[in-house]
Amino acid sequence: MHRLLIALAMLGAAAFAPAAAQTPTPSPDPALAPLREAVASFVQPDTDARHAAALQVVRAAGFTPTVETFAGAQGEQGRNIVFTIGGGAREILLVAHYDTVRLPDGTWSQGVVDNAASVVAIVEAAKVLKRARLRHRIRVILFDQEERGLLGAKAWIAAHGIAKVAAVVNSDVAGYGDVLMYGLNNGAASAPVVRALRATCAAQAQECVGYPAYPPSDDRAFIAAGAPTVSVGFQDGVGVHQMWLAFNTQKGGSGLAEGVVPEVFRTIHTAGDRMEKIDPATIARAAAFHAALVREIDRTVRRR
Ligand SMILES: [Zn+2]
Repeated sequence: MHRLLIALAMLGAAAFAPAAAQTPTPSPDPALAPLREAVASFVQPDTDARHAAALQVVRAAGFTPTVETFAGAQGEQGRNIVFTIGGGAREILLVAHYDTVRLPDGTWSQGVVDNAASVVAIVEAAKVLKRARLRHRIRVILFDQEERGLLGAKAWIAAHGIAKVAAVVNSDVAGYGDVLMYGLNNGAASAPVVRALRATCAAQAQECVGYPAYPPSDDRAFIAAGAPTVSVGFQDGVGVHQMWLAFNTQKGGSGLAEGVVPEVFRTIHTAGDRMEKIDPATIARAAAFHAALVREIDRTVRRR
């Protein structure tokens, strides 16, 4: 999630300390351990090592990634990671950023809640989609430099355009919790994708909360370009509703009490965004949901 609007939403809340590491809630299911390990592989001392870890997660899933470079922030080259599944003239993009933020002490945030967990979830979803018969080509993109202004997404759109894009599903913040949150500030063009999402929520008996105003991520670049887009994430029930109030109500009014800062904002972009926060059961849930959502979009969006 991009830090600017989040900061704005939190204005008025006294400077807040990062969330103390919660007692880990490891999922007891050993079958989920590989998901945790895949997320942990993103915890690296620099961007080169994190990039290499992202490539390794894609290769380990049986895909052949390509790297698309772009002129990034402060002269630092950006590297989007891309792979496709199936064929078809039109494409469904399943995307998540893999970059993280630098902390005030100069080190890099582990960036697992935001956003390594999403990356692992969409790669897992791709493994399921690989076995499905689909009308659209699925393009999975791991964007770089989202935290520096959605630069990877903007560079991809500038290079490829959206003429062939039938829909975009963006995943951001999906490290723990079992409630799905999604943005509704995505324009009329996105109505068919929102319909598909709501149908998938019902079919999966998944609790889903829609936000009239939703925090920004790479979805914003695609919405601005006119592509049907939805951005989704996961938190626990309290977190989802606190963030809803933070973004959709006036401070001190019917919203959050003065000084209350949703846990997610005391976690992302801080030293508190750590592996202790990660529940692999959420990653498995997100992967299953993304695979089902992409199939629903594939089945329902009108062919042009
Ligand atoms: Zn993010």
